[in-house]
Amino acid sequence: MTTVGRLAPTPSGLLHLGNVCAFAAAWLSARADDGRLLLRIEDIDVTRARRDVEQALRDDLVWLGLTVDGEVPHQSSRDYGPALAQLAPRLYRCQCTRAQREQALPDGAGCQGRCLERDYQEGAVRFRLDTGAMTFVDRRWGAQMTDPRAFGDPILVRRDGLVSYNLAVVADDITDGVTDVVRGSDLLEYTAVQIQLWEALGAPPPRWLHAPLILGADGKKLSKSHGSAHVGAMREAGATPADVWRVVLPWLGIDGASSLDEALPQWDPTAGPRGPVALAQE
Ligand code: GLU
Repeated sequence: MTTVGRLAPTPSGLLHLGNVCAFAAAWLSARADDGRLLLRIEDIDVTRARRDVEQALRDDLVWLGLTVDGEVPHQSSRDYGPALAQLAPRLYRCQCTRAQREQALPDGAGCQGRCLERDYQEGAVRFRLDTGAMTFVDRRWGAQMTDPRAFGDPILVRRDGLVSYNLAVVADDITDGVTDVVRGSDLLEYTAVQIQLWEALGAPPPRWLHAPLILGADGKKLSKSHGSAHVGAMREAGATPADVWRVVLPWLGIDGASSLDEALPQWDPTAGPRGPVALAQE
């Protein structure tokens, strides 16, 4: 079976070094297998997606040499009705208030459980998880055991009618024939939830690879406040793509390479730190 990977940027924030590390892993993984790499713009949350950010992301990808073999439709143009219909037996509407959700799970992601029996006609659509602890294999992290219920039943359609990332990412990967999901390890634990969605949609889950999570020098997840860790800012400060690669590739266990092509012979999905890796300076 041909390997099909994807780069799946969300155009709500500019490309930072953590994204570059995950995308490099996806690129190298697909190339090492003589596979295909697709680009999918994950703009399902139209309230946050921005056209100018999407253009800047595309420019950064080209500048870095993160080439793809094709592009699939934007999420915002897709129809998730068929996937929802297939999942219908496990869907229910949740009308928990924020306070009730926080009572169910401290991060406010849970349902108190009563909505399941109430058969509401309105509210956020949740997917009923059906197992406790489960295991899956990540190519870098090895066997992982997680209990997806720690995240609560995921919301597939928000109260305002928008389809969520959870449904979109899995439905799209199935539609796009993706065999290899490579992304940042902030999503590692969440993989168990997504595996349940893959299975409920009748598709064999892909191979998983989670690249190290890159943190700012302050130990926090990279965000707008870490301006200089963004590719655009590095470019403006006079950095070349080779400068960026010499910073990023060692996080994937690759030394002395200044481009993806040079890095390819050294690619080993298990090499390098699991992370998180904190930037030395901002
Ligand atoms: N669009 C997601 C992000 O930017 C990535 C989703 C995935 O790779 O599964 O974080």
